[in-house]
Amino acid sequence: MHQCYYCEQMFDTKEQLFEHVEVHSDMERNKEITERKKKEKEN
Ligand SMILES: [Zn+2]
Repeated sequence: MHQCYYCEQMFDTKEQLFEHVEVHSDMERNKEITERKKKEKEN
């Protein structure tokens, strides 16, 4: 079993986990970009 370190969901294979984690990394990236834009606006 492989566990997602973001949401603690369990997956049978590494491949499934890997695919799932992509969703989180995309979200993290978008969050980062949004926050950076916000800061740029404030300055
Ligand atoms: Zn997850």
